[in-house]
Amino acid sequence: VEATGYDYSNLKGITLKASHIAEAALLEGKVAIVTGGASGIGAETVRLFSENGAFVVAADIQDELGHQLVASIGSEKVSYRHCDVRDEKQVEETVNFALEKYGRLDIMFSNAGTVDSGSGILNLDLCEFDNIMAVNVRGVAATIKHAARAMVANNVRGSIICTASVAGLVADCSTHASTTSKHAVIGLVRTACNELGAFGIRVNCVSPHAVATPLTCTALSMEADEVEATGCDRSNLKGVILKARHIAEAALFLASDDSVYISGHNLVVDGGFIASKSCFPRDALIK
Ligand code: NAD
Repeated sequence: VEATGYDYSNLKGITLKASHIAEAALLEGKVAIVTGGASGIGAETVRLFSENGAFVVAADIQDELGHQLVASIGSEKVSYRHCDVRDEKQVEETVNFALEKYGRLDIMFSNAGTVDSGSGILNLDLCEFDNIMAVNVRGVAATIKHAARAMVANNVRGSIICTASVAGLVADCSTHASTTSKHAVIGLVRTACNELGAFGIRVNCVSPHAVATPLTCTALSMEADEVEATGCDRSNLKGVILKARHIAEAALFLASDDSVYISGHNLVVDGGFIASKSCFPRDALIK
């Protein structure tokens, strides 16, 4: 049966098991917003949340891409909404859109992010710096604020997940502005968790290592396969290429009741990269 099913299926490399169907119910009936939902990690998360039974609003500024994504999923439970996270009013309207369309809000995946051209500190472009902070930090603050307001008002024990980065933990993974912004996201997640726990709302973040998305390809001026090869080269865990799907799976875990007692956590998805950074060659330390 499995061989025949595999043969007739479109998706190769995986055999459908009963456990996959059980997993499909992880977010049954829940309502989620995914910012930065038109591309990369966000788009993959929109798909995965939808596969897991959620109603999903993909929010982004890339309208054409967002509509294409929703059409490709082909479910009435998934919709697209224009939302520039730099504009608090648009964030509030997006939360209201989810409430009006689907009746509640259980999950906010605050994932929209951008990167700058990477000027050195001696020539730091402060306009670019401001834009990074406006999207990556202020935007995240606005989404936490309005998602939490909706959850508190409706007595929903929700889950808020933000996308930070390994650049939120160490200095040599991104630009000055992006690194600063991701350190700030981790701090904001902790303070928001501290306050929102009283309402039963969990706040966590995911911190990816390098994933080949339009953001990284543009920032590094590399093709996707080059980004992946470089990521593999620098990573500790060999034999796995980090994909947007892996980050979406981490977000799914934090969104679902499987993580019901996890809050204030930074779920690093880096194949051990941060843990294995070292001052000295391993051979010199471990004989
Ligand atoms: P991506 O470029 O594929 O997706 C980012 C999305 O955010 C895009 O669709 C973009 O239109 C949207 N966006 C940008 N500015 C916005 C704004 N003002 N309002 C609303 N949406 C906006 O890149 P990605 O890699 O999927 O990025 C998703 C998140 O992951 C970002 O926060 C990024 O910093 C983070 N991240 C990515 C990596 C990686 O290697 N790809 C590593 C660590 C962290």
